[in-house]
Amino acid sequence: MIGGCSELPTCTRSEILMGTVVTLKATGSDSQAAVNESFRRIAELEQNIFADVSAIESAAGNGDFVKISADVYKILETAQKYSVLTDGAFDVTIGAAVELWGIGSENQRVPSDDELAAVKNFVGFEHLHLRDGEAQLDLRGVKLNVGGIAKGYGIDIARKIFAAHGIRDGLIDFGTSTIFAVGRKKIGIKNPRASNELVGVIELENCALSTSGDYEKFFVADGRRYHHIIDPKTCAPAVSENFSVSVVVDGDVENCATVADILSTAVFVAGSERAEKFLPAGAEIILPKKVRPAA
Ligand code: ADP
Ligand code: MG
Repeated sequence: MIGGCSELPTCTRSEILMGTVVTLKATGSDSQAAVNESFRRIAELEQNIFADVSAIESAAGNGDFVKISADVYKILETAQKYSVLTDGAFDVTIGAAVELWGIGSENQRVPSDDELAAVKNFVGFEHLHLRDGEAQLDLRGVKLNVGGIAKGYGIDIARKIFAAHGIRDGLIDFGTSTIFAVGRKKIGIKNPRASNELVGVIELENCALSTSGDYEKFFVADGRRYHHIIDPKTCAPAVSENFSVSVVVDGDVENCATVADILSTAVFVAGSERAEKFLPAGAEIILPKKVRPAA
């Protein structure tokens, strides 16, 4: 076609996967295939996570290494790298503490000091070992929780499939808290305490955005807000100077959405000042107004 306009087909679809609403939007001649293949791979990832995490936890403490899928291996390997880098602010062995608080579940409650002291023995990335596609937990009772990284990894899967299908315009959205903009997109960042207000609008071009906050899952008891981002050092909800933290990571960074997902959680725990020391090239922190509204 010379001098004409080509109307490329757009495909948009949402599915509930990985505990959130996943919306994929692609524009391009191959958009339908890109979206279909992405959903198939994300569903497969979700199943692999469930199976592999169960297998690793069942074998915990018995000395065995468990063969796991390549995707879950990559997730755990990346998690371990950032646990070291963030001095333990991000830690996928947080599972036992997440279960104890039960935030967002019907069992949510403030644990006793004794329970908190006890659970600390079962949290620590030094218990997770990886080698040649296999994983091991060296202590029975240590639990894995990939809730702070898996959505980002799912986005990276879809992002690569979009690229292979030549998609240059689209949006990969996992529940609005983790997003990749294919091409240039304006994204509104919601005010976490007032869902119909925007904290701001940012323009993204081929980069990932992840937001972590104390508003997604929480309960209030005795005037205190207990939320779902746990400080591995205390095994209690992290005390943060901000109610939410967003991190943007450039698309040139390997697995940029996985890194953004990790970092928004890690920066929320560590605080933005400490985070400046571990922020990799291509990553930027975006803080909402520093005011902390009442619980
Ligand atoms: P969201 O899931 O709302 O996008 P995050 O990406 O910040 O938010 O992930 C929070 C989830 O990560 C928690 O619900 C829990 O499953 C897990 N998690 C909590 N604290 C930590 C931590 N310190 N390190 C790693 N994962 C964590
Ligand atoms: Mg995260």
